[in-house]
Amino acid sequence: MSISVKNLSKHYDKQKAVDSISFEAKPGRILGFLGPNGAGKSTTMRMLTGYLEPTSGEAEISGENISTHTIEAKKHIGYLPENTPLYSDMYVKEFLNFIGDAYNLSNLSARVDEVIKKVGLTPEQHKKIGMLSKGYRQRVGLAQAIIHNPAVLILDEPTSGLDPNQLVDIRALIKELGKDKTVVISTHIMQEVEAICDDIIIINKGKIVANNSLEGIKKAHQGSSLEDIFRKLTA
Ligand code: ADP
Repeated sequence: MSISVKNLSKHYDKQKAVDSISFEAKPGRILGFLGPNGAGKSTTMRMLTGYLEPTSGEAEISGENISTHTIEAKKHIGYLPENTPLYSDMYVKEFLNFIGDAYNLSNLSARVDEVIKKVGLTPEQHKKIGMLSKGYRQRVGLAQAIIHNPAVLILDEPTSGLDPNQLVDIRALIKELGKDKTVVISTHIMQEVEAICDDIIIINKGKIVANNSLEGIKKAHQGSSLEDIFRKLTA
């Protein structure tokens, strides 16, 4: 199992932002992590990626415990946070070299060229990040997330704020990356889930209220639309 989460919780004072959730995620599948605003999606992702210490519970990434073996676990994770913080004054290649260098990658310049091609950044590769459209900035975010070829990709609302054409392109790219990785993507766009996810988890007020394959959840709700199922479970 690439991701294994057991009774993971994060409390802020009395609020249980994430309340004892458990789940697993497998390679070659894209897991949609859905929930209304404030449900606990980002908090969970930040715990999975080692950026936030859980109040209790455990998460393992490729068999490495993220709290006790953070450095080893992080080697297996590519993370695209919400509102990707990128260095807008840096050139695309300069930035990717900088990130790759932090991972101590050998053949760095060949790897940078490879990821630029993979995420479709070739036409913009000589520009400053600040000059790029939001869609291309997301590609830079994805490039930095995959540069060390991690087994697991955690993408926090990777398509928010993109125009319809950019949306289609980035979704296709995520689908492609999901062929041989374990991908967890948070979103509240049901169309997106239908377009790219194999499995879904719905989280509401810090708790998991559904964990199933996309087909499975529809069957369990007599073929209702995902919108209706989502509304019912998060009301
Ligand atoms: P989502 O990503 O599903 O929109 P979040 O994980 O960002 O939800 O937030 C879950 C809940 O935790 C929200 O109620 C939010 O206000 C609260 N929360 C998140 N971060 C903090 C923090 N640093 N301090 C206090 N409360 C927080």
